[in-house]
Amino acid sequence: MMRVGPSYRVGSLSLFLLIATAPVRAQLDNLVEQMRETPITSQRISDGLHVLFGVGGNIVVSIGASGVLMVDSQFPQMAPKYKDKISELGGGNIDFTLNTHWHFDHADGNLILGPEGTWIVAQENSRDRLTQDNQINLVNQLWEQPAYPAAALPTITFKDQMSFEFNGERIDLLHYGPAHTSGDAAVVFRAHNAVHMGDVFNNNGYPFIDFDSGGSFEGMIDFCRSVLNQINTDTVVVPGHGPVTDYVELADYTSMLSQIRDRVRDLIEDGATLEQVVAARPTRRWDGEQGDPANFLDRVYASLTQSISAQ
Ligand SMILES: [Zn+2]
Repeated sequence: MMRVGPSYRVGSLSLFLLIATAPVRAQLDNLVEQMRETPITSQRISDGLHVLFGVGGNIVVSIGASGVLMVDSQFPQMAPKYKDKISELGGGNIDFTLNTHWHFDHADGNLILGPEGTWIVAQENSRDRLTQDNQINLVNQLWEQPAYPAAALPTITFKDQMSFEFNGERIDLLHYGPAHTSGDAAVVFRAHNAVHMGDVFNNNGYPFIDFDSGGSFEGMIDFCRSVLNQINTDTVVVPGHGPVTDYVELADYTSMLSQIRDRVRDLIEDGATLEQVVAARPTRRWDGEQGDPANFLDRVYASLTQSISAQ
């Protein structure tokens, strides 16, 4: 596809658009504006562990005697603001940044942090993605996320699991196969009893499945179930986006996805087209709280069609 859209350069962040529809352009202008206007706010999980909200994915930061370890890095424009917030909370330089996955709204901050000497950690498939130019098919738009320069790439990777002993606790990075993307990591803070789910768990509307880049709807359900087995009913659950929540909400979300999976799979097995699936309103019970299911169902249909035909 020919690139016809505008190209924006904001600081070291480049956002290219492949489809220059007016709503998309407005959305991008809105993002740039948001980054200028939005402060970083924080929510304390317990001593030494905080969630930071700004523009992009939720950040979790561990601050203590070992130093500062941060999960996800938002955008370069937000970096000065979250560094100030980390100082306010008693931290210094950011020693480690763990990317829950490679999407720009979680990892573009690497472009600032990597060159400054922060160690960047990610699941190996996410690192692979970050070394290449990507197009993210968001259904209603295509985002181009250019390859990162070497200094912004993860220098430490893992396949299924790795652990830190940092700030007096064990921190586990867990990967359970394709889910939101092909390279997701959940990060479990064992002593604080908290988990950052990345975008495998979205708590502000139906999730996005990056199927075109190797994500899987069924994998997303399995991933959530695997994490639920690792945590307990007292665990603080931080979603990729949306408010901090708990075990029960993650379990409910997993159940919702699983029920939708069953309904859509039945429809596909009966020969339904995407249009017929949408018309059957398999998500109707949840649309009131989750919003418009159109883009979600598009990706669910694509993912389930593939897994059914592979059986
Ligand atoms: Zn994402």
